[in-house]
Amino acid sequence: MTTARAPRRIVVVGASAAGLTAAETLRAQGYDGALTLIGEEPRLPYDRPPLSKQVLAGEWTAERTRLRPPEAVTALALDLRLGTAATALSPSSRTVSLTRGEDIGWDALLIATGVRPRRLPWSGLPGTHVLRHLDDALALRERLAPGRRLVVVGAGFLGSEVASSARALGAHVTLVEPAPLPLAHVVGRHVGARVARLHREHGVDLRTGTAVAAAESTHGRLTGLRLSDGTHVPADDVLVAIGSEPATDWLAGSGLRLDDGVECDERNRAAPGVYAAGDVARWHNPLFGTTMRLEHRTNAAEQAVAAARNLLHPEQARPFAPVPYFWTDQYGIRVQAYGHLRGHEESRVVEGDPDEGRFLVAYRRGPALVGALSFGLPPKTLRPWRAAVAARADWAEATRA
Ligand SMILES: Cc1cc2nc3c(=O)[nH]c(=O)nc-3n(C[C@H](O)[C@H](O)[C@H](O)COP(=O)(O)OP(=O)(O)OC[C@H]3O[C@@H](n4cnc5c(N)ncnc54)[C@H](O)[C@@H]3O)c2cc1C
Repeated sequence: MTTARAPRRIVVVGASAAGLTAAETLRAQGYDGALTLIGEEPRLPYDRPPLSKQVLAGEWTAERTRLRPPEAVTALALDLRLGTAATALSPSSRTVSLTRGEDIGWDALLIATGVRPRRLPWSGLPGTHVLRHLDDALALRERLAPGRRLVVVGAGFLGSEVASSARALGAHVTLVEPAPLPLAHVVGRHVGARVARLHREHGVDLRTGTAVAAAESTHGRLTGLRLSDGTHVPADDVLVAIGSEPATDWLAGSGLRLDDGVECDERNRAAPGVYAAGDVARWHNPLFGTTMRLEHRTNAAEQAVAAARNLLHPEQARPFAPVPYFWTDQYGIRVQAYGHLRGHEESRVVEGDPDEGRFLVAYRRGPALVGALSFGLPPKTLRPWRAAVAARADWAEATRA
């Protein structure tokens, strides 16, 4: 058996939660070779969850979102290329090309380029927003004030959080969602119905079962939307929050398997010497026996740690088999979940009462408990359910009253 030579030149593409955590892990594991971190954004790495919450609400300054103080980034002794995008990858010549026309060689590469917001054909019209970058949040924040009319297209987690923050600022909010209930396809009808009620109780004009048919504009600026039910919604601003797409355009022609993300095996490996982590990575999670790609902050960090370790020590590489976790905050209520809820076959309220706004929902696929979500309950209520999901507990036993 041959032992792979330890890498001396590692390149990480994507300088955010996953990319920075990967770089930190490599150093913490004793890697002292060349380490290049390439990030398209010109800023030092910052955190995204506060963008739709504290930043939009005006509670946090932009600086407060920094993932690490500048000294901590300097201490990593990186070849840090901010404001530079990777434009192509050649696994055979082991190079990555940059926007400046330079090619960088590597012995091992970690892809952490995240996702980009999906757009609509009229998304370029002034008055239309997406929310992924800090600058997006600051630009939207500028526009929100009492009496301003914001239309949010898409009542997923992001759209719902923005509706909540915008209402707190006194803006009029219309939330447009083609499904009959927000979020129900992911978290089930109990949670969807409760979220719908929350929006309405907080004065959001929630329009479900209807889609956007067209944008209306005057003098090149957006003035409102026409919906598929024939109604017209006037708007000063529109946020398009209809999901994201993995940022893999730069990998076209690289030979990597791209299918809703960079396809990896259960050890985070996409090709020899090439690993991926965070929102961009689709991998086989052996705990659930399925491939998944998560857009959760905690996963970005955990997967980056796992991928960086496996990259450094391929002979001892371990499967990455986490119980996924996410949280969302809306109208001062924390919703948290463990497990793989998407594709569940049954959801059941096992504690509390949705009508009272505090409850816990369990999710089943096949005979197994695959997830649990707490709505407005203290974190300790959910913790035992994490262990039960990790143990792939039997549904009937786990949900017995
Ligand atoms: C507004 C908002 C709120 C959120 N709230 C929550 C929450 O409450 N709970 C939760 O669990 N998760 C939340 N998330 C999701 C969470 O932020 C993500 O899961 C996390 O940021 C993923 O980190 P990442 O490093 O994989 O990708 P990203 O954070 O997307 O970072 C990828 C980086 O790579 C850069 N990049 C892309 N292409 C290239 C290229 N070709 N070359 C160089 N650089 C490139 C990008 O510019 C970006 O800086 C939220 C996300 C957003 C946008």
